Amino acid sequence: MVGAAWMLASLASGGYRNLMTHSDDQPLSTGLKGRCQRCGEGRLFDGFLTVRPRCEACGLDYSFADSGDGPAVFVILFAGFIICAMALVVEVKYQPPFWLHAVIFGPLVLIVCLGMLRPLKGLMIALQYRHNAREGRLDRDGPAGG
Ligand SMILES: [Zn+2]
Repeated sequence: MVGAAWMLASLASGGYRNLMTHSDDQPLSTGLKGRCQRCGEGRLFDGFLTVRPRCEACGLDYSFADSGDGPAVFVILFAGFIICAMALVVEVKYQPPFWLHAVIFGPLVLIVCLGMLRPLKGLMIALQYRHNAREGRLDRDGPAGG
């Protein structure tokens, strides 16, 4: 029921424009792999986090892609939960000295955060493309602007 409502909302919000492509139903897989959401072939990133100007396979213009600080927020939430839970379990079970916590969890924070950042950015851009999400603009010629 919720899935159907979400799908209808997705179609109403412009998601229908992607229905002609094969990778449309996999924003999760194409986004996490850093692939083009339209064709599923071209690479999304040039370097670690820099988005390419366009898809090398289908020519999709990536200028719409602006994930802002969305990926960082999710990385903070997920990594914070994972690392804090691990640190608490280690502290309760083994009670190691604090320097050992720093040696273990300091690098682990970097590894987990940097490892999650690129897939989550790809996922957010894929979802942005699928739902035709963009920055709000004033529509002066619309019915409200008269
Ligand atoms: Zn493409």
